[in-house]
Amino acid sequence: MDYNSRMKLVNVSDYGIKSINYYWARKEQFNLSLDELNSVGIAGDETLVDAQIIPSLLRANEAFRKLGFEMIIKDGYRSAELYDLVRKKRYEIDGKENTDKTFSTGSMPHSSGFVVDVNLISLEDHKEVEMWDKKDWPEGIFMDFYRDKDDSKSIEYQRLQDLLVNNMQKVGFCLGKRREFHHFEYKK
Ligand SMILES: [Zn+2]
Repeated sequence: MDYNSRMKLVNVSDYGIKSINYYWARKEQFNLSLDELNSVGIAGDETLVDAQIIPSLLRANEAFRKLGFEMIIKDGYRSAELYDLVRKKRYEIDGKENTDKTFSTGSMPHSSGFVVDVNLISLEDHKEVEMWDKKDWPEGIFMDFYRDKDDSKSIEYQRLQDLLVNNMQKVGFCLGKRREFHHFEYKK
C-alpha cells in the first residue's frame, strides 16, 4: 500500500469500538473475492483509522452510551486501490448513476484516515438501529431527506440521524459535502 507514510493507522476494535469492514462484510453482495480484497489491503473484518481521531471517537461513544446507544464504524480508511476496485464493482451491480451519487472517487475522502462511516447499535437489544428505509435508497441516506415528512417512521429516522450528527459534531467531526447522515470527516 502506498498510503501516506506519515499516517499511523490503527484498528478501532483495539480501543473497544465496534466495527465492521464494509466491503469485507459485503464481499458477496459486491462480488469481491478474497484475493481482490487482499490486493487492495483488506485482510479481514476490521476498520482502520488514523490514530489521531481515536480520542474523539471515544468521546463520541461515551456520549452515545449515555443515550442508550453505542457506535459501530462501518468504514474508515480506504486505499485509492480499494476505491478503484469498488467503483468498478458498483458500476456493474448498482449502475453508474446511483454509484456516482453515493460513492466519491474524485476526492476519495476515506483515503485520509480521518473519515468514518458510523451507525448506532442499541444497548438494549444490541442490534443495529434502523436510521433510514432501504426502499428510499439512495436518497434516504442524505441528511434531511426525512425532515419534512410527518409519518412516525420518518420522524424517528430524523431524530436518530440528528442525534448521531450532533454528537459527532461535538467531538470535531462534520458531514461530508454530500451530507450523508452517517459519513463524518474530522476537521484537523
Ligand atoms: Zn463515508
